Parts: sequence; C-alpha cells; structure tokens
Amino acid sequence: MRSAYWIKNDIRINDNTALKNFCDQSREGLIFWCVDKNYHRLSQFKQQAVMEALGNLNEKLKAYEQKVILFSKPLIQILPTLIDELKIEKLFYTSEYAYHEKLEEQKINEITKEKNVQIETFDQATLVAEKNLPFTLDHMPLVFTDFRKKIESALIIEKPVPKPDRFPAQIELTQNLQSLVDSVAVGSSQDSSENHLLERMNHYFWETESVLSYKDTRNGLLDINDSTRFSRGLNLGSLSARTVYAELKKFEATVKANESTYWVVFELLWRDYFKFFSLKYGNKIFLRDGLKATGARKYKFSGQDKAKFLQWCEGKTESRFINANMNELNETGWMSNRGRQNVASYLIHDLKCPWTWGAAYFEKKLVDYDVDLNWGNWLYLSGQGSDPRSRVFNIERQAGMYDPDQLYQKKWTV
Ligand SMILES: Cc1cc2nc3c(=O)[nH]c(=O)nc-3n(C[C@H](O)[C@H](O)[C@H](O)COP(=O)(O)OP(=O)(O)OC[C@H]3O[C@@H](n4cnc5c(N)ncnc54)[C@H](O)[C@@H]3O)c2cc1C
Repeated sequence: MRSAYWIKNDIRINDNTALKNFCDQSREGLIFWCVDKNYHRLSQFKQQAVMEALGNLNEKLKAYEQKVILFSKPLIQILPTLIDELKIEKLFYTSEYAYHEKLEEQKINEITKEKNVQIETFDQATLVAEKNLPFTLDHMPLVFTDFRKKIESALIIEKPVPKPDRFPAQIELTQNLQSLVDSVAVGSSQDSSENHLLERMNHYFWETESVLSYKDTRNGLLDINDSTRFSRGLNLGSLSARTVYAELKKFEATVKANESTYWVVFELLWRDYFKFFSLKYGNKIFLRDGLKATGARKYKFSGQDKAKFLQWCEGKTESRFINANMNELNETGWMSNRGRQNVASYLIHDLKCPWTWGAAYFEKKLVDYDVDLNWGNWLYLSGQGSDPRSRVFNIERQAGMYDPDQLYQKKWTV
C-alpha cells in the first residue's frame, strides 16, 4: 500500500503506535509535517523545540532511507494534491483533544472520504487511553480527585510499543509538491528532541535518583532537578507518557518506590484530566465564563486594565516575585509550576484582568505550551472551570515560602 504519515504531536520513533502501524501496513510511504497557523502563533522557543524534535526524528529516519518532509502549508490545503499526485491510499495520524484541532481532523477526514482514501487514527497522547477510561466522556467526573480515584481503581496503562523494525520505501515528491516543501532550519540545540528527552529521563530517574524526592522539590524555582522537566517532550510527543510510566515502574522495582515516585504518576493524571476535559468541553475552555458561559454577559475593560496587563507581561508590576517569574518566562520560555500558579493568581485577583489574556500570553511564550494544559489550568485557577473555588494566592507569603533567601528573585530581577 502507498500511505502517508502525518506527524502531529507524536514526534518520536519509540512507542509510536501510529508510526508503527504505518510502517507495518505500507510498502511505500511519505512521512510529513505541515506548518499551520497554530505554529505561527507559538513562541520562538516552542517553534525551535518543534524543529529540534523534527530534526532528530529526521536523523533517525536516515538509517531507514526515509525522511521527514516539512510542508509550508496546512494539510487541509495540500491534501487533495498530495492524494492525487502521489496516489496515496491511506493516511495515518495521532488524534488530538482540543476543539480547533478536532475541527481540522474532521475536515481532513471529509477530504479523505471524498477521495476514497482510507484513514487510521490513534489515541496515544495520554497515559490512559480514552478507551481504557472506566467511564465514558459523558460521565467523566468533573472534579480531578474523583477522576483520579476512578481511574486508579481500574488502572489500565498500555505498554510502550517497540519502534518499527522496517520502514516503507520513500515516496518521491512531484515537482509541484516539491515547491511546497519548507526550508525551515532545524534548531541547533537538541533540548526537545527524543534523544534528549530519553537522556533527561535517564538522568532524572537513574543517574541522580532525583525522582525519589520529587514530591518535596517539585515546587522549587531554581534547580533543574526540582521537577522532571518532561513537559516539553510530552507535549511535542518526543517522549510518551507511557514510556515515562514504564521506566518509572522499572525504577520502582529496581531501586525504590515511595510517595515521590507515585507523585509523578499523579501529575501525569492531571495531564490526562486536562486533555479529556478539553475533549469533553470543546471551545468552552477558551471562554471567559468557561463552563458557565451563556454568551449573555458583556465585558468592558478600560485602557487602565490593558496597561496593568502590559506591566504584568513585561515583568513590571509592584511585586518583585511576580516580575522575576515573568522575566524568566520572557527570556527562556520556561516558568515553574509554582511560578505559573502565582502569576496567574496575581493577574486574575490582584490586577483583576481577564484570565484569558494571561492564557493567550502564555500561549505566545511557553516553550512547553500545550493547548489543553495551558487553557485548562488557567480556567481551573480562574474558578470558571470544574472547581468553583478560584485559587487565590498570597503572593508575598508564597515568595517567602518558596524563595526565602530571594535567590530566585535576585537571579531574575532585571
Ligand atoms: C497557568 C498554568 C499554565 C500551564 N500551562 C502549561 C502548558 O502550556 N503546558 C504544560 O505542559 N503544562 C502547563 N502547566 C502545568 C505545569 O505547570 C507544567 O506541566 C510543569 O510546570 C512542567 O514542568 P515539569 O515537566 O518539570 O513538571 P513535573 O512537575 O515534573 O510534572 C510531570 C508532568 O506532569 C504533568 N503536569 C504537572 N503539573 C501539571 C498540571 N498542573 N496540569 C497538567 N499537567 C501537569 C506535565 O506533563 C509534567 O511534565 C500550566 C500550569 C499552570 C498553573
């Protein structure tokens, strides 16, 4: 069969069910990725991360005489040409959870149907696959604790699949399609590549055994080993949640299991929660009133609100702790979970700006931006999501607890 494999947030060779099926079923194949408007909205940090991961995948494919083709247009625009000119019979891809991504998938599916092309999609971005949830999405518990407890009482986590042992022969592009190939440079540093993420996991689990103290250190602001730093890989799919789980179980069996090792799984279930939450509630996660949205209320914000928001973005508020976190974000694309919670609370409750402005700013800045996790966390903190209590932080108290010697503030005060 002549097939195409559309790379989405699954930029890896290991534990990739979609890639494995594509390889097993195809005699000739095209492996491609498309630039779309979502990509252009991302920060330079995340764009670079995507390129690093694609570059690393491309390197690995060379050994199999395959490569990653980067198209400069969204798939919707080029799919009919791709199918017609390359005589594609089947399309493989990993499905997403968020509203606009789902709409795009629907349109892609319509095109393939019109063209009589088969399609096979895979649900593999979460730790627990949707089909293994002990409830349907309609009955998904609204509150995280109930969600987690139900899952843990009937936990099914599939084993990682081995990498493909053979690849289909590469399909050559027509001249027409060749003109749509993007010459995007692949990033030089490899921080977000599959190789780097596997090394990072090895370092965090085995070399330093930092995972044994994760629960105590995860709120730290300064040390790279305070938390796993797997997020950029999990979101691009250069590392799978199932791979992390399998490695963690190996570590627990060989070295030690404790509350901290369990807590990594606990956090991965938060990740699953926001993914399924997004799948269930669709575009409500982007609305200011969230789950309570009626479309009735009109908001008016003044120039003063906008000025306060800009000060927050630029790290020029009255709080040195908030400014330090925003400076780190602006300079590196990274902010700790503790920092994210504090700056969100400050924007919503101290500056009284809409949470959606903050979420949109994070979207443009974070190196590990993920649509479901970012908008889900902001919505949750705003009190318009699954939990009616909004999370209000006393910023100065938090600074005293998590940065008692002000080392973090000294580092990130510009
Ligand atoms: C306002 C706000 C916005 C956020 N935006 C994003 C985002 O765009 N992308 C993103 O990956 N995370 C986001 N998070 C969640 C969390 O801050 C990051 O996942 C975490 O800081 C990444 O660091 P780590 O990999 O070292 O996490 P660790 O503490 O080591 O956790 C391990 C993994 O568990 C998952 N996880 C941890 N905390 C959360 C959480 N609160 N919600 C969902 N999953 C979680 C992540 O996949 C993470 O990589 C956001 C949190 C807040 C409060």
